[in-house]
Amino acid sequence: MATTLMVWIDQDLCTGDGICSEICPAVFEPRDDGLWVVREDAEHFGETIVFDGEEGSGHGPDGGRGVARIPDSEIDNAVEAAEECPGECIMIEPYDQGAIDNRGA
Ligand code: SF4
Repeated sequence: MATTLMVWIDQDLCTGDGICSEICPAVFEPRDDGLWVVREDAEHFGETIVFDGEEGSGHGPDGGRGVARIPDSEIDNAVEAAEECPGECIMIEPYDQGAIDNRGA
């Protein structure tokens, strides 16, 4: 599907309060260590990928390399989550195919 924006979280700044996933559960979710990560959901992208830094199928890098495409239908919620994030660590950027290709490199 077409997407215009992508998002990643700087986990070094995440406070772990979970506001992001309360506002936009389609894009943000908690990790076992109490920090939050982004994901691409199968509902929108055909397969679910969680950008939590774990190895293996269904996982991707965390931090700046772990950019998730934002479904167009979730852009408003994702932007609101970024605005409300107390860590100011939700980074929303224009879609960049090079950054998407670099996730699995
Ligand atoms: S809102 Fe920001 S600080 Fe809070 S859990 Fe989400 S990414 Fe972390």
